[in-house]
Amino acid sequence: MSIMVPSKTPAALITTAPYPYTPGPASPGRQALDSALHQLDQAAGHLGLDDGLRTMLATPRRSLTVSVPVRREDGRLDVVQGFRVQHNVSRGPAKGGLRFHPATDIHEVTALAMWMTWKCALVGIPYGGAKGGVAVDPAALSTREKERLTRRYVSEILPLIGPEKDIPAPDVGTDEQTMAWIMDTYSVSAGYSVPGVVTGKPMTLGGSLGRAGATSRGVQIAALAALGRSPEGVTVAVQGFGKVGGPAAQYLADAGCKVVAVSDATGAVHRAGGLDISRLRAWVAETGGVRGFAEAEELTHDELIELDVDVLVPAALEGVITEANAPRVRARLIVEGANGPTTPGADEILAANGTTVVPDILANAGGVIVSYLEWVQNMQAYAWSSGEIELKLRDLMLGAFAEVSALAAERGLSLRQAAHVIGVGRVAEAHQMRGLYP
Ligand code: GLU
Repeated sequence: MSIMVPSKTPAALITTAPYPYTPGPASPGRQALDSALHQLDQAAGHLGLDDGLRTMLATPRRSLTVSVPVRREDGRLDVVQGFRVQHNVSRGPAKGGLRFHPATDIHEVTALAMWMTWKCALVGIPYGGAKGGVAVDPAALSTREKERLTRRYVSEILPLIGPEKDIPAPDVGTDEQTMAWIMDTYSVSAGYSVPGVVTGKPMTLGGSLGRAGATSRGVQIAALAALGRSPEGVTVAVQGFGKVGGPAAQYLADAGCKVVAVSDATGAVHRAGGLDISRLRAWVAETGGVRGFAEAEELTHDELIELDVDVLVPAALEGVITEANAPRVRARLIVEGANGPTTPGADEILAANGTTVVPDILANAGGVIVSYLEWVQNMQAYAWSSGEIELKLRDLMLGAFAEVSALAAERGLSLRQAAHVIGVGRVAEAHQMRGLYP
């Protein structure tokens, strides 16, 4: 069936965003998408982009929802929803993580894909942005159930992914093992090994040195650059002591900072004299969470966010710093290890209170930077040393940090606004140079 396009398209059809963003009860995912669209709108305003291009950039190029049947250990069949969104592919293949989380939805995945687009453009790596999600609690699944779920999800999105098309990676609730299953499922279907289809793989399957701690290393680099003074004795609170926050706390402590509080799903702990991060990580490995760590006092999650520290590192999920708690945030510097932890309303309050925010698309870019290095190594069938990886990561992080700071100072923007102006601007330029087909 062909679609008839009237020769004179009514204006309303042009100005109404064609993508069906459904209004309705504001899910956390919908709020994340609203934040992402607000940030895009601000950047588009600074760049003077026309309405057509704004709509293009506000709209994912491809968005797939799949039903994933999973056979449970007791023989039952469960069906969960999965998503893969390719927000933009104008600068290269789509790139972005895969999240397993019960609250994920198409809106959240779209927001996360959009942030990936700006992040890759900002740090100058040749990718567009993507994200995947499966609405499931991985902690409720056995390893074999997780494997079946991952393989079936991958087979449902198989036509979309590939080393030249879209390259998944770990995100919340997924890890090296998940990536190994994805690589295997894709390779079995291709008939040969395709390591470049995912990043964040185990070393034995073509993973890269430095990838596991890359996001956290990037957070450390960004935090130290933003501090602009000796880290000795600088107090830090880390919200989310997981894959990103755990090693980030360690790297900051190694640099001389005093990590005084951390939290995870089990609770929050505080020690004014500084926590022993290695001992705390050993405790978490043994017990499954920070709660009950003997060398610290307990805190509530809210108390951690509002703690009087120099640096706050939100390193878990979106929407933790909001208009409701931003007035009580006392940290002088916020370094976003998570994607989207601060809402636009909170951003305004923090800016008015003189709090500097190093935004997610800059602060947590270390992960996708080393993913890119992993993919380049896979495409060349060659491996770099950890020293080479570390050097390239630092170069790209510090280069982007310098560009963002310079633009922010020149135009009187926040670091987030400047980062978005650069990221969105590069993608807009790619669109303009390529032109529109047909
Ligand atoms: N999930 C990470 C992020 O949000 C890494 C993505 C990647 O390496 O492709 O940046």
